[in-house]
Amino acid sequence: MTAAKIRLFVDHPLGVGQSVPLTGPQAHYLFGVMRQGAGSRLLVFNGREGEWLAEVTETGKRTGSLTCLEQSGPQLMPPDLWLLFAPVKKARTDFIVEKATELGVARIVPVHTDFTNSERVRQDRLQAHALEAAEQCGATFVPEVRGLISLPRLLADWDGDRRILWADESLAGAAAALANARPGAWAILIGPEGGFSEPEKARLRSLPHVVSVSLGPRILRADTAAAAAITLWQAALGDWR
Ligand code: SAH
Repeated sequence: MTAAKIRLFVDHPLGVGQSVPLTGPQAHYLFGVMRQGAGSRLLVFNGREGEWLAEVTETGKRTGSLTCLEQSGPQLMPPDLWLLFAPVKKARTDFIVEKATELGVARIVPVHTDFTNSERVRQDRLQAHALEAAEQCGATFVPEVRGLISLPRLLADWDGDRRILWADESLAGAAAALANARPGAWAILIGPEGGFSEPEKARLRSLPHVVSVSLGPRILRADTAAAAAITLWQAALGDWR
């Protein structure tokens, strides 16, 4: 048997000898698309119990099951970092969710700001993107994607113990300052293509738990800014150190 390459997220307990039912789409993907059959091996994870080597034991057109053989990797939790971002166009929003999952965040929160002008946010679709990104990048954790919330509402209910790293485009060109920042619970805040409004900037500047940061001398698009800010934070305070 060749090394297992397929990785699937399964919402089911994992353990030696544990049988794991497949969903209809998973059975279709494994047997229809990937041409796997009884005896094929793959990797599974459920977001809590690490990664497991599993074997296909039952196949059907839209059904099937696996049996867990042995644990192949530990459960790795991301750092306590959230990404707060204003949704942009569909493809770029998908990119933001995918890259945030790969770079390592614990939660993803779409935020409606004054200059947000995107259509409805499909939370279930974005969650499916996060899941696929985790399957593809070897993560054992899938960040939770929350429903859309307005910025005033988010800030009003905010727990001040979690600091907000605010990517403030008006600081473009200043030195990126994370040198004095302490590790702990953080959230990164990225604005929409139109940036933040003056009232939003005033509100953010007034909050003691908000730390503003520059992402270099050029104005980045929102999707680039999200990836850059997570990278900056991960390198300074996260699990890349
Ligand atoms: N239209 C705005 C730019 C918005 S860019 C303008 O021209 O000023 C989208 C978001 O990316 C911003 O709200 C900010 O959160 C982030 N961003 C982009 N470039 C940045 C930079 N150089 N420094 C800090 N944040 C930046």
